[in-house]
Amino acid sequence: VTLVANVESVGQLSVDDLPRVVGEIYGVKDELRSLWDVWLHASHHATAIAQEARRARLRERVLKETADFAFWLFTIVYRIRGDLGRKKPGEDDRQSIVRIKGTLSEILWNRHPGVCPSCYWRRARLVDASSSSAALPELCECAAHPGDLPDGASRRRLSQALRSVALTQVGHKPDSLDLWQKRLGEIYRVYLGTVSLERVVFELLIQMGEVSDAMVRIYSYKADEFVAPQPSWQRQRLEDELGDLFRWLFLVAEKLNSVISDYSNHDLPRSVPQPLRLSWILWDRYGSTSRDQFHCPFCTGSSCVCKHVFVPGSATVDDLVERATDIA
Ligand SMILES: [Zn+2]
Ligand SMILES: [Zn+2]
Ligand SMILES: [Zn+2]
Repeated sequence: VTLVANVESVGQLSVDDLPRVVGEIYGVKDELRSLWDVWLHASHHATAIAQEARRARLRERVLKETADFAFWLFTIVYRIRGDLGRKKPGEDDRQSIVRIKGTLSEILWNRHPGVCPSCYWRRARLVDASSSSAALPELCECAAHPGDLPDGASRRRLSQALRSVALTQVGHKPDSLDLWQKRLGEIYRVYLGTVSLERVVFELLIQMGEVSDAMVRIYSYKADEFVAPQPSWQRQRLEDELGDLFRWLFLVAEKLNSVISDYSNHDLPRSVPQPLRLSWILWDRYGSTSRDQFHCPFCTGSSCVCKHVFVPGSATVDDLVERATDIA
């Protein structure tokens, strides 16, 4: 069933609808791409956001790049969610083990059950970890503690502790795109008021590296660490790092919102609404107003029919080698 959406309702879509949306538009075509291709596209759009963010005045391109980056991230979730070791069309053995269990809203909630994960860890170090949730920091204080993050064993303890908070608080889990942006915007309100857009994008890029690290460690191990239940920990780590990456995506949208409230900071069209929401950014790029659904902005198909050549896939390696003639 194709999802109906329009500029008014798009923010009420569940974050879990979006991986399905990209699957509908690009799923068949993406079978010709490896998971690594998808990740490379996510990477170059993330760095394009950084290129735009360092300009003195923001241009409309920052919104397009944010939308494209988000769509590639949704593609990652669509691709890697499933059973460990079960290949999807177009995948090889290695890709079949890069898997997450949870839905996007679950992996977001498992990291942000009403708190900033890093602040929770910082607080839990000071007080008894089993103390009541009254001790949880409501507002993120990370601006004052740059780079102060858990590693190794404490990262696993934090992951488990946050998941148990998430479980007991599950009734409070936001679902829609706009509610997630609102909730994260509240937790990180002071943080976002303290730091620059560049700093937020910098954190997003750091988190890209964390996800890369989590992906590579799902299929490569030190010999003495290739023991049970290590692969399960790595899968959980990948979920956690992705959850953190989606947080930065929402926070980039929140920070863009506050930056553009000053007209001297940007050359965006007057049609850009305030408050600016990620849901609007996605709709502006990928929404079809005539059909009330998402589509490919290039071919305008609800299932993309853009003419692309993938090697190998739609052309052979020999086809490419033949064309790799000397440059005159
Ligand atoms: Zn791309
Ligand atoms: Zn924090
Ligand atoms: Zn297309």
